[in-house]
This record gives sequence, structure tokens and C-alpha cells, in this order.
Amino acid sequence: MDYDIIIIGAGPGGIYSAYELTKEPTDLKIAVFEAGNPLEKRRCPIDGEKITSCVRCKTCAIMSGFGGAGAFSDGKYNITNNFGGTLYEHVGRQTALDLMNYVDHINTSHGAENTKLYSTSGTRFKKLCLQNKLHLLDASIRHLGTDLNYVVLENLYKELKDKVDFYFNTPVSTVEVLSEGFRVIYGDTSADCRKCIISVGRSGSKWMESVCQQLSIPTLSNRVDLGVRVELPAVIFSHLTDELYESKIVYKTEKFEDNVRTFCMNPYGIVVNENTNGIITANGHSYEDVNMRTENTNFALLVSKHFSEPFRDSNGYGESIARLSNMLGGGVIVQRFGDLMRGRRSTVRRIEEGLVRPTLKATPGDLSLVLPKRILDGIIEMIQALDKIAPGTANDDTLLYGVEVKFYNMEVEIDENLESPYKGLYIIGDGSGVTHSLSHASASGIYVARHLLANM
Ligand SMILES: Cc1cc2nc3c(=O)[nH]c(=O)nc-3n(C[C@H](O)[C@H](O)[C@H](O)COP(=O)(O)OP(=O)(O)OC[C@H]3O[C@@H](n4cnc5c(N)ncnc54)[C@H](O)[C@@H]3O)c2cc1C
Repeated sequence: MDYDIIIIGAGPGGIYSAYELTKEPTDLKIAVFEAGNPLEKRRCPIDGEKITSCVRCKTCAIMSGFGGAGAFSDGKYNITNNFGGTLYEHVGRQTALDLMNYVDHINTSHGAENTKLYSTSGTRFKKLCLQNKLHLLDASIRHLGTDLNYVVLENLYKELKDKVDFYFNTPVSTVEVLSEGFRVIYGDTSADCRKCIISVGRSGSKWMESVCQQLSIPTLSNRVDLGVRVELPAVIFSHLTDELYESKIVYKTEKFEDNVRTFCMNPYGIVVNENTNGIITANGHSYEDVNMRTENTNFALLVSKHFSEPFRDSNGYGESIARLSNMLGGGVIVQRFGDLMRGRRSTVRRIEEGLVRPTLKATPGDLSLVLPKRILDGIIEMIQALDKIAPGTANDDTLLYGVEVKFYNMEVEIDENLESPYKGLYIIGDGSGVTHSLSHASASGIYVARHLLANM
């Protein structure tokens, strides 16, 4: 065997596995194979001026490389079983929370020492929300910010680089099952290992599907979340964001009884483009450094769609809608809430005359030509409900960027050890379809590492 353990993917799932496996000295020989670049070489060429759209790099610097999709993220670590994945279904609720708290401990001893842990439980906002047909989910949230998230990753890499063999720019093409262990094939060569942890995240979803087909590992169909990113003056939400930082609020629509939820709240943040396989969608982030703050807060409003029979490809559905917005707007479309309600498109002039200064250069347009009526009606209802707890949310000048899409991996069959039907082959993080967040993905890595240490 070349290695005792091979980890495929250096996102949070892979990194926290490697961290836990090497925290105490062992004889284990460990390698990490990563399709993208080391952290310091990750750079997206889109600068908004010379290069404004995707140039299709060999690997996407935003999604791939040391740190995975989380490297340039807002670094919001939510400690909760209420959202961010269903790890608790495999490992139990208390274990999942303990693991997420342990991840928090790692972060706060690797550069995030001075960040604040926010909590929604027991606050006055729960009652306020319920009185207005809104449901505030309980969570503790550590906000690292894009800047400190990067520092934590840098520190973890410094600690790992001499204990683990890293293979960057090395996409694994196949995993073969041997009589004892696994063969990991990359380029025109391969490495054999006793145990293998697959942690390939969202960018590895197609690859994961092919591995499951090849090894006959059962999978379930996935869901997709569709909606818009809302941007408004930070002062409208400041009573919530100052105390809770992020509030995950769910609203059941009166018309269709669909759940609409807030997602990824960024106080004083910026709206950004996200590129998934060449499709441009909206996202957002914010910095811990007060000097980098803007005057706006942004958050997504999303509706989940899950197709099963005869159409199973929920992600394909989300992609088609995102493509439509790209076709009409050349990328992300922005519309004033007032224009949407009056049934007219936004124009450059209307946006310029508005009181909310957009933080993303997007094309003024009409989101009602892009989003299905059912989803758009739900979003409008939710904005009006939020207006009751944060007056001003439904102002004419509130900006809506579309579309925002959250793609999910199909769920892979794994057991309570996060082990596939092949003993010694573990599938963790977002690539397993079980987690959808930094804290859950990292926790799944720790969990598998501990299981391996106890059994090898
Ligand atoms: C812009 C953005 C902002 C986000 N903000 C937040 C946030 O604030 N809070 C939060 O909880 N979550 C956030 N997320 C989601 C979060 O980043 C993911 O849930 C998390 O990174 C998942 O970790 P992972 O290790 O499972 O996968 P990933 O982070 O996706 O890492 C997988 C790695 O595997 C590599 N890989 C894929 N295929 C192969 C292969 N065949 N061979 C070798 N390597 C391969 C990829 O290059 C990648 O580096 C954000 C995501 C994005 C894109």
C-alpha cells in the first residue's frame, strides 16, 4: 500500500479529517488529492473591469483548491441541527452538535480567537417572528468573515503540510475497489490505500455520481433551492443583525403553503456573482474587518423544489432557470421591489434614482420573466411578512438580484459511520448530499477521522 488513508478533496470535509487524523502523532501515512490549487494560488480572474465574466479556468478558483468552496466564503459556521445538513440523522443529534462545537474550537484556536459567537435561542425576536407568521430557527453562529476564514485555512495548512502528502492540481479520475483497500487513479498513474475518504463537495458532484454508478452505490434524487438575493440599507435589519448576526427565518406562504426561508445573511456586506459550471448566479458575503463594511445588508430568500418522478433532476431545473436569467441579463438581473410590484422592468435610471446603492453591477431587468409565478409569489409574500418585523424591507427601492440558486448533491447511501457499502470507503461533506454547510462538512470529517483512529 502507498498510503494508509487517502483523502480526495481538500475542502472543509477533507481538511478537518486530515487535522484530526494527524493531531496526535501516529504512524499513519496520509495523502490528500485536490483538483485545485494551494490556497495562495487560488485567484479568480474576474476583476469586474477587464474580465467581467467566466473564462472557464481549468479548475474554478472559487470552488476548488485548499479550503474548497468555503475558502472565499463568508465563513459563517452555524452550530445547529436545524439547517446546514442532516448529519444528525447518521451520527445522532448530540454527537453532531458536539462535533460542530469542536470544529468551532479548532477555528478559534487557529486565527478566529477574537470573533463573536451569536445565538438566536431565547431572544425576543422569536416571539416577534411568531406574531407575524415567521419562524426563527435556533442556532449559534460564529462569523469568521471572508478575511479571517482565510487566516484559519492558512494556519491549518501550515500545521498539516509536513504531516500529510498534498497533491494539488491532481483531480482523481476513478476509485477502484481492491481485495484489500482501494486504488485511486489520477492522470496516468495511481496510488493504493487501505482506507479512502471521499470529500469532493459541490464541484465534485458529477464525478461523485459517476463513482456511485461505477461502484453501484445507491443514491437518492436531490433538491434545489431557488430565489433571489435581497439588498437593503443595513439599518433596516440592524436590530436583528447586531444581536443575532444571521437570522434563519422560515415563512409558510398563504397561497401555496410553500416554505420560503432566509439564507446567508450578510450585514454590511456585498452581493457577488457566483459561477457554477459557467452559470452566473447571485451570492453574498461580508468581512469581519469594519473598514470593509458597506452601508447595505443582503440575504437570500429561497424556496426548495424537489422532483422525484418521472423527472428527477432538480438541479437541472434550477440550472435552466438560472440560464434564463443569464440569457436575458447576460448574468445576474437586478430589480427594484417597487418595479416588480408595478409589473415593470427596472432600468439603469430607476436603479440610479433609487435610495439603495447596489453593491453588485448587475443588469436591470424583470425577474417576473425569469422566476416561476409560484416561487415569485412566495418571495413577495415573504418580503411583506418581513416588513412587519423589519419595517422598510418592502420599500420600493429594496433591490432583488436574481437568480440565486443553491444546488445540492444527490444523497449517497452511507451508514452511521458515514461508510459506503464498501467497508473502508467513506463519503463525507457536501459530496455525500448529507451536509450543505461549513460546520456540518467539517464535523463529518472529524467524525470519520475519529472512527478510523479507533479502528485502524
Ligand atoms: C460563495 C460561497 C459562500 C459560502 N458561504 C458559506 C457560509 O458562510 N457558511 C456555510 O456554512 N457554508 C457556506 N458555503 C458552503 C460551504 O462552502 C460548503 O458547504 C463547504 O465548503 C462544503 O465542504 P466540502 O469539504 O464538503 O466540499 P468543498 O468545500 O466543495 O470541497 C471539495 C473539494 O474537493 C475537490 N474535488 C472535487 N472533485 C475532485 C476530484 N475528482 N479529485 C480531487 N479533488 C476533487 C474540489 O476541488 C474541492 O476543493 C458557501 C459556498 C460558496 C460557494
